[in-house]
Amino acid sequence: MKIVMLGAPGAGKGTQAKLIAESYGIPHVSTGDIFRANVKGGTALGMEAKAYMDKGELVPDELTVRILLDRVSQEDCRNGYVLDGFPRTIPQAEVLDSELSKMGEAIDHAIDVEVPDENIVKRMGGRRACLKCGATYHIVHIPPKQEGICDNCGEKLVQRDDDKEETVKNRLKVYHEATQPLIDFYSGKGVLKTVDGTLPQEEVFAAIKAILG
Ligand code: AMP
Repeated sequence: MKIVMLGAPGAGKGTQAKLIAESYGIPHVSTGDIFRANVKGGTALGMEAKAYMDKGELVPDELTVRILLDRVSQEDCRNGYVLDGFPRTIPQAEVLDSELSKMGEAIDHAIDVEVPDENIVKRMGGRRACLKCGATYHIVHIPPKQEGICDNCGEKLVQRDDDKEETVKNRLKVYHEATQPLIDFYSGKGVLKTVDGTLPQEEVFAAIKAILG
């Protein structure tokens, strides 16, 4: 099963993608996580990506598509995957579509996690992340057991540079311009489903499970 998660940054699609991955036994593929791992590792790819990420801008399609196609061609993706944060532009979706169709395959479900912009700004201000294991929290909605400390690995939690308010506003602008058109793209392919991302996390996941079966 191949799934694409759509929705504004901070809509909770990463959290839902992780739940889907666990529940259906398929890898969670996040281009944002791949970029962050490269930033942390100080690779050339990471250095190139960081300049865009820190401003809330998109990493160029050519680079992003290359790392994504490389990831989904790995053995563990053979039975499917859940894409989180990719595609972010129509050209990215078109490349993915044409690469899949070469193999007689296609995206089975595109799930749009809908949340109004004003909720997003509030949510992202409270977001905290563990840069060691990638876990994400929210100071109100998903607090760690011990304040400021990751439940999984005990690392200190931080606010990611790209979760700061000015960056969030820019990311929303970029989302509306570049990414929202993907809703029509996948709707045209008959695979789009929408869930209400303002509901509690478990209810959003229950709605997704009802869609995926
Ligand atoms: P995310 O964790 O998905 O919100 O991604 C964090 C940042 O990584 C984004 O703000 C972009 O700068 C970059 N990024 C992640 N995925 C993509 C993509 N598909 N296309 C372009 N840039 C991306």
